[in-house]
Amino acid sequence: DTLISQIAAGEVVERPASVVKEVLENAIDAGAQAITIRLEEGGCQRISIQDDGSGIAHTELHLAIQRHATSKITSLADLESVISLGFRGEALASIASVSRFSITTRTSEDDHAWQIQVNGGQTMGDAVPSSGPIGTTVDVQDLYFNTPARRKFLKSSATELGHCLELIRRIALSRPDIGFAIWHNGKVIERWASCNIEQRVDAILGQEFQSSKIALEHISGPLTVRGFISKPTSSRARADQQYSFVNGRFVRDKVIQHAIRSAYQDVLHGDRQPMVVLSLEIDPQLVDVNVHPAKTEVRFREGGAVHQFIYKAIQHALGTAAG
Ligand code: ADP
Ligand code: MG
Repeated sequence: DTLISQIAAGEVVERPASVVKEVLENAIDAGAQAITIRLEEGGCQRISIQDDGSGIAHTELHLAIQRHATSKITSLADLESVISLGFRGEALASIASVSRFSITTRTSEDDHAWQIQVNGGQTMGDAVPSSGPIGTTVDVQDLYFNTPARRKFLKSSATELGHCLELIRRIALSRPDIGFAIWHNGKVIERWASCNIEQRVDAILGQEFQSSKIALEHISGPLTVRGFISKPTSSRARADQQYSFVNGRFVRDKVIQHAIRSAYQDVLHGDRQPMVVLSLEIDPQLVDVNVHPAKTEVRFREGGAVHQFIYKAIQHALGTAAG
């Protein structure tokens, strides 16, 4: 069972940022309004994420860290099919199989918190009473301590921290209503209070974009896009400063990227790497969201129509801004 969890972990938990993603998504699912992320050495040494969500009932706690598909896996083919489905419902079990893991949680019904500890997939006894506010803290230390071959693939703290921060920015841009505090090696490095989307964009993308951004809104049939794009004149964007979301979820999509690039090119004859935060709403029937939880790709039923729509939205916003 631990071995299967470790293989699963290899799929889902590529690096500290993957842990951050899974744990943040759980916190958001639990209705968190404020989330504190504490990292040590880029998350390689420690990732501790505290939320003020619903918490987990004491009676459910052991289930949260259990693999759900164990009984179904009797052959390699079963294992492969589970891997291809992305181990839904098993992120915590996977993470716990390759780290020194604890979860401390308290619901509004409890007088105190409960804590369970798992070391490299071995649950260390029953939940024990603990202290703490309502909500959940997941603590992940020494990622891959028991799978040295994987631990070797971790990059420097600075690189892993960069990946963690990028991941947090994506989630924070999709949920400006949630407050975030980020600590690294004992110091606060970011604090984003609950706010509206424009304020969150300003907080995350910084001064230059703040003073040069154009608001955009375009609606056509089942498609709506809203967001902010950089003015033609500002050109100091990096390729990684383009954030697109489809139905609230961060995506990296060739159709959207190409539409953005060609609109800038055609309207401005240049500035092909603008800064962009775009949120596309589309009928869920018209888009396949990749089933693998660690991936960010989508597939549009009608890519051409989406391309044209984004292209027009940007062309229009740039044209309006020009005069
Ligand atoms: P999944 O999110 O796909 O169900 P996970 O392994 O990520 O699988 O989490 C297992 C379960 O543990 C969740 O379904 C949820 O019930 C519970 N859980 C995990 N994290 C939290 C949290 N921060 N707050 C409340 N419940 C949580
Ligand atoms: Mg989850």
